[in-house]
Amino acid sequence: MVNAFIGLGSNLDNPKGHVRQALEDLKQLPQSQLLLASKLYLSKPVGPQDQDDFVNAVVLLATELEPLALLDELQSIEQQHQRVRERHWGPRTLDLDLLLFADQTIRNSRLTVPHAELSRRDFVIGPLLELCPELVLPNGTPLQQLLQQCPIDGLICIEA
Ligand code: AMP
Repeated sequence: MVNAFIGLGSNLDNPKGHVRQALEDLKQLPQSQLLLASKLYLSKPVGPQDQDDFVNAVVLLATELEPLALLDELQSIEQQHQRVRERHWGPRTLDLDLLLFADQTIRNSRLTVPHAELSRRDFVIGPLLELCPELVLPNGTPLQQLLQQCPIDGLICIEA
């Protein structure tokens, strides 16, 4: 079993409902156990501003799945939520990102871990810090240090 952090986001069609349902879906993942779930947060969209705010959360899983098998499972959950994506950084019913996988650095055609945007997204850093204030990235950077480059700005905690 290794630890993996997953980021969740939704801003379409009852976003809180999609995130809550995705938390239930993640509890059902094979060979995995959901250890911790953050509160729900509201964040401003990245990119086009003519869309609703996002509901975000982060979970910590213990898993025996390999990274690509876990990505397959996450994409299958996205599909169950009738994910539509009309444009890059546009609105979506559910986005699941593999943020961190143990202390591994992964770079292949399907997967970049740590997630490429992790250090630039307050809606990822905030919930990650809530779950694991002492977290250190595989390159040795403490998560706390990322706050200096990416302050928490406009992120609102909406629900426990
Ligand atoms: P997006 O829906 O914008 O999050 O992008 C989905 C695409 O990003 C898929 O084709 C994935 O294969 C790819 N991808 C690369 N790294 C990751 C990651 N760490 N987590 C989720 N998807 C990833």
